[in-house]
Amino acid sequence: MTASTPVVAASVVELRAAIDAAKSAAAKSAEATRAARPSIGFVPTMGYLHEGHAALLRRARAESDVVVASVFVNPTQFGAGEDFTTYPRDVPRDLALLAREAVDVAFVPPPRGFYPPGAATSVVVGAVAEPLEGAARPGHFRGVATVVTMLFNAVSPARAYFGDKDWQQLQVIKRLVRDLHLPVSIVGVPTVREGDGLALSSRNVRLSAADRAKATILFRALAAARRAYAAGERSPAKLERALATELAKEPDAVIEYAVVVDGASLQPIVEANAGSRALIAARVGGVRLIDNGALTD
Ligand code: AMP
Repeated sequence: MTASTPVVAASVVELRAAIDAAKSAAAKSAEATRAARPSIGFVPTMGYLHEGHAALLRRARAESDVVVASVFVNPTQFGAGEDFTTYPRDVPRDLALLAREAVDVAFVPPPRGFYPPGAATSVVVGAVAEPLEGAARPGHFRGVATVVTMLFNAVSPARAYFGDKDWQQLQVIKRLVRDLHLPVSIVGVPTVREGDGLALSSRNVRLSAADRAKATILFRALAAARRAYAAGERSPAKLERALATELAKEPDAVIEYAVVVDGASLQPIVEANAGSRALIAARVGGVRLIDNGALTD
């Protein structure tokens, strides 16, 4: 493991050459676990990296011979009127974090440079991509599934790492990989939080100090649902009421949804159990935040 700066690739041709070189180096290295066929761990990101991303990178580093990360704010997963242009960006800072985490190759295509001119193909995942984020952000998961498929084809990873923070996205990617027989294992990594429970997110930087404090309401609501479940409540409607009652304590949080659903399919359930998931989307000071949690500890 080295802490040198990753090789930065801006095109798929450069990326494949950099990965081949990193694999050859790993195959020669005494540290390589499977010297003949070094394994690639891949962490796709939209940049403005934080300790949540670092957790994914560390897991990839621990499990892979070669670690590849991408930094690309994917235009196709933003709807009209969403925050594509104002999404926070700082590539030099990102490269420093990738170096710190001993990433071998960083794929950083130019802002609109990953899609071939006239690209007209997209990947649409079915039912699991339809409710919640899919309903609130039409076209979002089509953009996510398309770019992730393109990235998997460009990188050919053995494992790819995604955060539980974007729980529905993780389930959409798992469905995509199963349905298309993509030769990659999907690894979910627990959400990294601030001391007060706020899930780390690149968008948190846009919260004012006052709104930053109010934003903990999402975590507090998830805790309330967990407490109700621990006390024996199994009715999804009543668990959702526990979420809503807690959320109502922060009048400046505008709730988009606060539900308890099946953790894999994201569909409604009749009775909550250990596989259920509470998910919330809310706006605080105009910043759209999402969070989720299991009902068990
Ligand atoms: P993003 O750059 O926001 O697209 O996120 C890239 C990856 O990092 C996704 O798989 C996210 O789920 C994951 N991620 C973002 N925030 C966190 C967090 N607080 N804890 C763990 N993973 C996260």
